[in-house]
Amino acid sequence: MTPEQIRSTLRTNLDTVENRLRSALDRCGRRRDEITLVAVTKTVAVDVAALLPELGVCDLGESRPQELWRKAAAIPSVRWHLVGHLQRNKAAATLPIASLIHSGDSERLLRTLDEEADRTRLSPRVLLEFNVSREPNKSGFAPEEADSLVELLRQLRHLQIMGLMGMAALEEDPERTRPAFAHLRQLRDSLREQLEELHPLCELSMGMSHDFEVAVEEGATLVRIGTALFEGVD
Ligand SMILES: *Cc1c(COP(=O)(O)O)cnc(C)c1O
Repeated sequence: MTPEQIRSTLRTNLDTVENRLRSALDRCGRRRDEITLVAVTKTVAVDVAALLPELGVCDLGESRPQELWRKAAAIPSVRWHLVGHLQRNKAAATLPIASLIHSGDSERLLRTLDEEADRTRLSPRVLLEFNVSREPNKSGFAPEEADSLVELLRQLRHLQIMGLMGMAALEEDPERTRPAFAHLRQLRDSLREQLEELHPLCELSMGMSHDFEVAVEEGATLVRIGTALFEGVD
């Protein structure tokens, strides 16, 4: 594909995603500026990802830390999101690059991030990942662990816990993802209440290409979209 063909395919895909997003927002009376579209670029090359800012997409995500480092070095002008698992030995190199880490998925990782933040005088923004679909192959805290996390979260003085992240199981009918997204929102509300002003807990990162409309109706503030943006781009 020529760069012009890639650009035109991206523009068409983005229009389709924006139209789907706006319909979902209309259905629940929310505004477009309440949602951040994170383009998950894991399936495309750096030169394709680099076309996104000129289309107005300035939040880019990667699921693997090394790929995040590589693409962020090539495209420094956007906000980078880590949406996949972070190994503790990669925490130090990731903190200065990621504007939001969606995958705070264990107590050990959160403690490591907090220590690293203390050492480097950073205040990284992190989401707690919950396995609300209860699939054994997914990472994240179990929903029952939420209350026992409160004490840990009180001790994390350098991290800003911005909210929660979760995934629904892949369903043929996206409507069936609704209970998982509603559950994530309840967990966020409950943690926010228990932690008072210690952490912002305002964000909900939920919804991907096939189910983001339902997630938006259930309160998503960040949607993570890959396939729907990049289909037809080689
Ligand atoms: C790949 C990925 C996405 C994007 O998924 P699509 O179905 O391609 O939109 C979102 N979140 C995470 C954590 C991912 O790994």
